[in-house]
Amino acid sequence: MIYIKTEEEIEIQRESSLLVGKTLAEVAKYVAPGIKTIELDAIAEAFIKDHGAVPGFKGYGGFPGSLCISVNDQVVHGIPGNQVLQEGDIVSIDCGVLKNGFYGDSAYTFAVGEISEELQLLLERTKASLYLGIEQAVAGNRTGDIGNAIQRYTEGFGYGVVRELVGHGVGRKLHEKPEVPNYGRRGSGVKLKENMTLAIEPMINLGSRGVKQEADGWTIRTIDGKPSAHFEHDVAIRKGKADILSTFSYIEEILNKK
Ligand code: MG
Ligand code: MG
Repeated sequence: MIYIKTEEEIEIQRESSLLVGKTLAEVAKYVAPGIKTIELDAIAEAFIKDHGAVPGFKGYGGFPGSLCISVNDQVVHGIPGNQVLQEGDIVSIDCGVLKNGFYGDSAYTFAVGEISEELQLLLERTKASLYLGIEQAVAGNRTGDIGNAIQRYTEGFGYGVVRELVGHGVGRKLHEKPEVPNYGRRGSGVKLKENMTLAIEPMINLGSRGVKQEADGWTIRTIDGKPSAHFEHDVAIRKGKADILSTFSYIEEILNKK
């Protein structure tokens, strides 16, 4: 069952998605060499609660954190802990909030201090692939059109597209149908209808696409040990052009000041 949202529900969801962007911006102020990932998690949790919302990930399936924090070869679902960020790392920070009954879910991958050009390009291209996917997220297209756009662009650079984890519908539940793979054939998959709301989230590896799950039952890592990037937006499907509910503008305001 795929939920089609009312306009009113989409506006409530937008508020949740924007709060995720604001939370990630708050966290962005502190992303620097020397900070522990558990400290970033505490900053996010306090910020979310101060804004009348509940951390969307905490307790979800037993997940212990308010953020998923995934460093370097960790792809997604990293558990905040005593890991200290180091100069030259990249860190994917994925945040969910629940407010007024609806979830927002968005992620951004940050550079820690100065990073190599190779990693800078991985971040830029992964983010660009998200927007290419979003361009295809319009009524009448199919989920495969989104995945194909992401895959074609990123594989063109020799990157690996993670297949085991995918985007998803989002709304009253954090994960709703349909699945939104980051790969696929044009014209395949679920047909998109107006007022579906999707979380689109390419996970792109510098090396090959293979991933494995750690013994902690959560953390996903690349098999070859090479770094991976992840960016995620929530969108509402419309005719002609998707309506992006989340935003990176608060985050990038902070990054531009750094
Ligand atoms: Mg997410
Ligand atoms: Mg998601």
